[in-house]
Amino acid sequence: MGRVAVVTGGTRGIGKAICLALQAKGVTVVANYAGNIESARQFTAETGIPAYRWDVGDHEFCIHNCNDIAAEHGPIDIVVNNAGITRDAVLHRMSFEDWNEVMRINLGGCFNMAKATFPGMRERGWGRIINIGSVNGQSGQYGQVNYAAAKSGIHGFTKALAQEGAKFGVTVNAIAPGYVDTDMVAAVPAPVLEKIVAKIPVGRLGHAEEIARGVTFLASEEAGFMTGSTMSINGGQHMY
Ligand code: NDP
Repeated sequence: MGRVAVVTGGTRGIGKAICLALQAKGVTVVANYAGNIESARQFTAETGIPAYRWDVGDHEFCIHNCNDIAAEHGPIDIVVNNAGITRDAVLHRMSFEDWNEVMRINLGGCFNMAKATFPGMRERGWGRIINIGSVNGQSGQYGQVNYAAAKSGIHGFTKALAQEGAKFGVTVNAIAPGYVDTDMVAAVPAPVLEKIVAKIPVGRLGHAEEIARGVTFLASEEAGFMTGSTMSINGGQHMY
């Protein structure tokens, strides 16, 4: 594709699969990560993809790092807002910090990255912003008012920004993955996970590569007529 992409949270899990899939399409990829230096080093050694460390919940860090990436690798054409965290608890036990941190990183990160890159895409007349939401943002989930609200917010953010980008060749789409076998899901207690898998019609967890294939499509030239959409990749867990 000859484009430059930034994938937030790109060094592990779904983000890593997205980086590899974009790289395989000829995209120059840069990954971001929060602080797990060991997995970032391993990722760069394996893939040759540079990994920049910063917190996507921090507005100034996003602006500065995206400017640095553009200076080093060229203007950023594709942004995949994939970085995300969970801080699960039922509401009566959830702290304000747990609420705020999930909103700051999962939803605030999308705003920060769009502020850093959307104006340039708009000026150049081409861009792709792909936001990773969640099935739990579509249907809600017990113990996740923070996460479900942030992910649901991502879907609204996507539709609003898509309208602003449409006339300028910038598409903005979301992917809502179901449960995927990454570290994030490994943290779910086994009995809870068994019940979840029992409700997935295809009868298994998804693989990170299955989400990444959706991203490469949305990032492609061929997807230019698709904007403001949410692509559900969830094994049939939630249909509408
Ligand atoms: P992982 O926990 O496996 O990986 C998370 C990645 O995000 C890591 O690279 C991590 O960096 C990075 N990250 C976390 N916080 C920040 C931050 N503040 N700034 C920058 N980077 C950050 O997550 P998954 O691969 O499972 O999930 C990826 C995305 O997909 C998330 O948005 C998640 O909500 C969403 N999703 C996942 C599902 C699943 O079943 N796994 C289902 C639906 C949606 P570091 O390594 O340094 O910690």
